[in-house]
Amino acid sequence: MLIRGYRWEFCRPPNPQAQHLRGVAYLDKDIGELLPYLNTVLRGDLYCQEPPSLILKYRAKLINISARQIAINILRDEEEAEEIIRWLVEVINETWEKRGKIAPSCRVAPKPRVLEILKLLPRSNCRACGYPTCMVFAVRVSEGKAVSDACPVLSLPRRQALQEYLGKFSRQSAEST
Ligand code: SF4
Repeated sequence: MLIRGYRWEFCRPPNPQAQHLRGVAYLDKDIGELLPYLNTVLRGDLYCQEPPSLILKYRAKLINISARQIAINILRDEEEAEEIIRWLVEVINETWEKRGKIAPSCRVAPKPRVLEILKLLPRSNCRACGYPTCMVFAVRVSEGKAVSDACPVLSLPRRQALQEYLGKFSRQSAEST
């Protein structure tokens, strides 16, 4: 068994209208070397090189797995966070046990284009999403580190168009359906 424990920290996103939680689980072991193996097990194209991490969507949450921590966005509550982390720790520990039979992979998924995202945003730089400009927000969405729903002033047609565009690049885990 690789991971035996973790410590949670929770916070609310900067957007004052946000109801959801963001949780970070700090792991008791460094799993940096295991990330390419986890990439193969989870889907095979989730790898992010800078910094080394895996980014996946699971039940409409964005999960970022790096060497010492797992960050999960858009959590309903702490109970949901615990359910997801227990699943991930199980996957990590199983991958650790079976790593001799798994081909590691650093394959990266194609990313959405920042300008295509920006074209669909209001471009008012109002900061309601918690980012200083729409451009910064677009970069974060393109990297898979922010979700399009975090722009509260986006009109419904543009929200749908953005989700349709991002859907072409969706990093869905096999477990997410
Ligand atoms: S992305 Fe939306 S919320 Fe963020 S600054 Fe631009 S308009 Fe405002």
